Amino acid sequence: MTIRTRMAPSPTGEFHIGSMRTLMYNWALARKLGGQFILRIEDTDKERYVEGAVERMLLVIKKYGFDWDEGPQVGGKYGPYVQSERLDIYKKYALELVEKGKAYFCFCAEERLEKLREQQRKEKKPVTKYDRHCLDLSKEGIEGNLKGEKPYVIRMKIPDDEIVEVADLILGKMSFPSNDLDDQILLKSDGFPTYHLGVVVDDHLMEITHILRGREWLASTPKHVLLYRAFGWKEPVFAHLPVLREVDSTKKMSKRLGDVAASDFLKAGYLPEALDNFIMFLGWNPGTEKEVYTIDEFVKDFSIEKIQKSEMSAFDRQKLSWFNGLYIRNTPLGRLFEKIESWHKEFGVKMECGKFGKDFDLKVLSLVQERMKTLSEFNDLTSYFYNRPIVNSEKLASFSGDLRKSKEIIEKYLGVYEHISEDAWKKDDLDKISHEKLLEWGYKPKEAFMTLRYAVCGTEFTPPLFDVFNLIGKKETIERLKSVL
Ligand code: GLU
Repeated sequence: MTIRTRMAPSPTGEFHIGSMRTLMYNWALARKLGGQFILRIEDTDKERYVEGAVERMLLVIKKYGFDWDEGPQVGGKYGPYVQSERLDIYKKYALELVEKGKAYFCFCAEERLEKLREQQRKEKKPVTKYDRHCLDLSKEGIEGNLKGEKPYVIRMKIPDDEIVEVADLILGKMSFPSNDLDDQILLKSDGFPTYHLGVVVDDHLMEITHILRGREWLASTPKHVLLYRAFGWKEPVFAHLPVLREVDSTKKMSKRLGDVAASDFLKAGYLPEALDNFIMFLGWNPGTEKEVYTIDEFVKDFSIEKIQKSEMSAFDRQKLSWFNGLYIRNTPLGRLFEKIESWHKEFGVKMECGKFGKDFDLKVLSLVQERMKTLSEFNDLTSYFYNRPIVNSEKLASFSGDLRKSKEIIEKYLGVYEHISEDAWKKDDLDKISHEKLLEWGYKPKEAFMTLRYAVCGTEFTPPLFDVFNLIGKKETIERLKSVL
């Protein structure tokens, strides 16, 4: 048997980072076992449809480095892979269930259903359920209604008093009393299927063998299992994955607390490789110390047995930064610069660098690479290499505790630096003489060097000071010191 997995996103918003994790696991399972990975668009909720969401979804999935063997743009023999293009298929199967006595027409108007729900809520029923008002309509009654073009839905007839067992590959055997389930609508009055009908029909017709999806879908799974049985189809393997939460929360990640869309993280300057490495651990763990994984290594080591049983997995944003910093440090300088440039282009952010030539830019980058956590930080971390900073006298005074002393420090060092020739303006020589003078004049290293650093760079956070002086050059360093005086 060939393994066939799928991801079935709905274009009701931007593609969530948690969906990318789910996609990655499905993709990896198919890649590992030599199967196929299918992408299907579940666009049956017309009210929540977001314009352009499908295109953005496909793009971001590719940017994270994933592809699909069948689906939009690539096609495949089980298509179309967009549910709104398959409406007659769902109708046919819904009617087949009616025929089999496993589903029924319901002509109840929305007002009646609303009243019913209200009444059940008043009676403090644990779940509100349809009262099966239309379950026993006569054949003639149904035909009359259909002829009169009365709007209808098709509901599933949930069997009474059964325990529905779901064999979950991660969670083990789960049991759900059928009496807790509502007679689920399968086909809506607009002719669109609900998620439940669409997902089961398509997973069956597309021969999906393994369904890995978030825990939020677990409660729907008994309905799906009942549908498979009603049709007489073989069930796929189910595996429900932990959903993501913020580190200090017990609720599912939401955009109220920070970025959650997969595209947001690219925009914030994270590298796809780092994001992939980070998200692969959101629910899976190889059980070793190894943390740094390429996608290929992940595919090799991935297995469903190593997925956590827990309901939630913490999305540790600090850990993501750590991964990103690591990938930035491990990227060769020239390549990293290209990535920084394309990030700026893609997100329309102007780069400050460039005016002193590429060589200069690469040297600047080599000095800050170590400290960069995102591609977007480059401008902020390096602006003083390109533009004279604004220096605040109060701040300047703070390093020695006295503005007069700060000026004295600057004057004395200026006197020394002015006598160094252009040729001798080298990091090591500058370092040596600056320290010798420090001893001679009796300043503390911090007060003298922080004063010089702030005077030249306008910030206390820079790479080693004499690296900076060396790169900025004698003339500019001296001019900046003078202008501060
Ligand atoms: N369309 C559903 C979603 O938006 C698919 C859930 C599933 O994988 O069954 O996530």
